[in-house]
Order: sequence, then structure tokens, then C-alpha cells
Amino acid sequence: MAEPHELTLPELAATGLSPAQAKALFRSFHQGLEFPSPLTAVKNERAPGVIKTDFRLPDGLAIEAVFMDWGKEKKFVCVSSQAGCPVGCRFCATGRMGLKRNLTAGEIIAQVYHFAKTEKITNLVFMGMGEPFLNYDRVTKAVRLLNSELGQNIALRKIVISTVGIVTGLEKFGRELRALKLAWSLAAPEEKLRRSLIPYSALPTIDETIAAIIGYQKRSKQRITIEYVLLKGVNDSAKELEKLFEISRKIDSHINLIEYNPTGKEFTAGDVDAARTYLKKLKANVTIRRSLGKEISAACGQLLPSHVVS
Ligand code: SF4
Repeated sequence: MAEPHELTLPELAATGLSPAQAKALFRSFHQGLEFPSPLTAVKNERAPGVIKTDFRLPDGLAIEAVFMDWGKEKKFVCVSSQAGCPVGCRFCATGRMGLKRNLTAGEIIAQVYHFAKTEKITNLVFMGMGEPFLNYDRVTKAVRLLNSELGQNIALRKIVISTVGIVTGLEKFGRELRALKLAWSLAAPEEKLRRSLIPYSALPTIDETIAAIIGYQKRSKQRITIEYVLLKGVNDSAKELEKLFEISRKIDSHINLIEYNPTGKEFTAGDVDAARTYLKKLKANVTIRRSLGKEISAACGQLLPSHVVS
């Protein structure tokens, strides 16, 4: 059963409160941040512009969230949606944990509120631990609470959901929350290689995901980002970059090359500058995402709480 702070304003009002009482209570939860957090912050690590916090959940499991200060009033939280992740991307530390469980909406918003006590949070990226579309209902509930103008009032267009391409999630997302931004973590432009890097048995094919994204874009009219983590000698050849470019032309998208942040000995980082130059020559729409917080393992793909309970 949902906790009171997990209820939207109409849901709160439906519990029998007057409209004024429901509003006051909602405000106290989401602006005043007055509710018992389900998270216990057990460790903070800092690097320039970054704070990574390890949280313990009520059942002893562990998650992480990362605050990033990009300057110019851009203050991001990278949010986790699951404890662990069932998708198992080989280039990601979280993937090695397997799935422990989905987070509740309260556990998701509490990550943001932990940092909102001292900072005005402007942007959210669901790129922490977990695949957000495999915890769709709770993630979208949390988004609605975080977006409320009686709460943190974080604009939907400043919230990014990153997915490996879960088609059921994409379909619902296009119907329900099309103002949000979408990022597709592709990893490889060729099916066999992609499945070896993302060994999730229910992973939709590239073509299935493209079809779902086209459906989503018919409704949302939003350009999406294709995230491509560049792995040396694995997915960075001219042939693969050309295929990546071909995929990017099938949908309204831009390519974001992600610097690989080592999480083990299996992979090394590809040369993102060289890849961008090559893609630019092809006339691709391409940028590079350089991560903050590598030195404290807070960068993309590095989240693995140090106090994981297995
Ligand atoms: S990259 Fe994302 S989807 Fe893949 S294992 Fe890591 S958390 Fe899960």
C-alpha cells in the first residue's frame, strides 16, 4: 500500500481530506520535505561538482544517487529506479548486481529530496541504478510528484528517462508522459554484438525498438538521444559507426557518445573525439558526454554501492 507521501494531490484528497487540507499536507511532504525518509544516507563521497550518496533501504538493500553541479544554475540528480538491475549490461557495474527489487515511488523521490534539502534541483536523469521502464508505474508516479508545482516543480522537459529500449515502456510513455525527454542506450548498432553487451533475454530487437520510438515520436514530436558508450575495439570501428549513423537517421535523434568509465578489466575506453570526428564527416548530429565524478565511481555505469547486501 502506498504511503501518504506517495499519493498525488487528487489521491490525497480522495482519502477524505478537504481540498485545503490535502494541499497543505502535499506541500508539507514535497516542498517542506517533511516525511520520514525511507532512505538512510550511509556514505557521501565528493569530487569537484559531484556528490555520490549511498543509501540503505528499509530492508537493508543498497542504492546510490548522484548530485551533479554543472554550473549556471544547472543542478542535476542522477536517480536510481531499481536496487540492482536485471538487464546486466556488461559495461556497467550495476548490471553485475542483478535485480534485488524495484524501488517504491517514495524511495525514488527521497533520493532527490536528500539533495533538495541544500540545493535547488533543476534537472533529473533516470540513469542511475536500474532500467526505469521495468519499474514503469513507480517511476512515472515519482515523476508526477517531482513535477508538481506544490512540490519541487521540476519541469518535465528537464527530466530524462534512459532505457535500453523496453518497448512496453516506450508505448505507455508516448501516451502518458510525452513531455519528458527520452534517451535510448543502444550500446551497439548490430544485433549480435548488442545482445552480447546487453544480455537481457527480453531485450527487444533494434528494429522493434525503432518502431516503438517512431510511435512515441508521432505523439511526442520530441527528438531523442541515442546514447552510445564507446568501447575500444568492440563497437568503435568505422563500420559500426556507420551503422550507428544509419540507425540515427531512421528516427529524429542525436547521438551522444559516452566516454566509458572503467568498471572492471573487460573493456577499455574508445576514443570519443575520433568517433565524433568520423560521425561528423558522415553529417551525423553528434555530441560527447563527459562524465563528472569518475574518481569516486559516480560516473555513468559505475554505480555499485560499497555496502551492497547480497
Ligand atoms: S546500464 Fe542501465 S540498464 Fe544496463 S545494467 Fe546498468 S543500470 Fe541496468
